[in-house]
Amino acid sequence: MQSPPAPLRLRIDRAALAGNWRVLDGMSGTASAGAAVKADAYGLGVAHAVPILRDAGARDFFVAHWCEVAAMLDHVPPSQVAVLHGPVTTEDAAFAHATGVRPVINSVQQARLWLALGGGACDLMVDTGMNRLGLPPSQLAEPDIARLRVHTLHSHLASADEDSVQNRQQLSLFAQVAAARTAQRRAFANSAGIALGRDYAFDLTRPGIALYGGVPRAELADAIRQVAFPQVRIMQVRQLQTGDHVGYGGVFVAPHAMRVATVALGYADGYLRSWDGRGMLQAGAEQLPLLGRVSMDMVVVDLSAIPDLGPGDWLDLPYSLPVAAQGGQLTQYELLTLLGPRLERFVTD
Ligand SMILES: *Cc1c(COP(=O)(O)O)cnc(C)c1O
Repeated sequence: MQSPPAPLRLRIDRAALAGNWRVLDGMSGTASAGAAVKADAYGLGVAHAVPILRDAGARDFFVAHWCEVAAMLDHVPPSQVAVLHGPVTTEDAAFAHATGVRPVINSVQQARLWLALGGGACDLMVDTGMNRLGLPPSQLAEPDIARLRVHTLHSHLASADEDSVQNRQQLSLFAQVAAARTAQRRAFANSAGIALGRDYAFDLTRPGIALYGGVPRAELADAIRQVAFPQVRIMQVRQLQTGDHVGYGGVFVAPHAMRVATVALGYADGYLRSWDGRGMLQAGAEQLPLLGRVSMDMVVVDLSAIPDLGPGDWLDLPYSLPVAAQGGQLTQYELLTLLGPRLERFVTD
């Protein structure tokens, strides 16, 4: 027998996701926009997001791990997928060969793993100042790097969401690297990097967060639309008397008689304890403040604004990413990627 519908779900707005890709592709100028779809398309679900991005026109998809490749190949050909972490083991390199997915080579060691299995087209990530993944520019002349057949030459901005001098420094270093190293294409900008201007775009951009409704720089605020809309069901409604306590620790004490609803959303779903005392749900335009602590599988909200709701009714979790991130407890990236597997993903037109 099939499970009944989940009491919590994540609505994905097809037009908003496709529209965000088109906006970012347009802002990339003569470069094309790809799509960072690591971490299950930032939590939206590859099976939902990738066909929409593909149909909008995206032809370059980036995942972090090799275990993320199989889900991609249900929707796009292997030549359109690259794995950012590159081959760390021989098994990784063998898997890249077998599937035809491009590894992003990040070090001389990774180049050797790739060449040992015969090499072939790969991407190369050069570190221009982030010191996380990527080849130091001083090692570009290493014989095993020189031997690589580089499809796309990459670097990644560390501070594109800020007005940092590091952006220009990385740009000028990447321009030097790109002039020195032959590659079919050059890719540099993430979402925020696209907003820094056309000189950051090169041939291909790699937006992630802004595709999914994130606004990492103010320049994107008017163009980017919310894509992911969490919704949760009321399980039970109760009447509190003055002085009643709610939830673990009894930290909320009713100041007067009030109607409350217990809702199927908890920290196990990515609605973290950092929302204690400040979270809220919505029923239409009505705001329903969170009462007490977030539990693993539920929260309690104040139903005073709209008392006739009952079990089975759906509430909205306000999740405009730039607004939800304003308290500073969670970033826009965390807000999306935290959303757990118990939210049933579905797409609406
Ligand atoms: C995640 C990632 C991106 C996308 O970054 P956003 O800030 O989400 O746009 C681009 N490039 C690389 C190398 C990444 O790891």
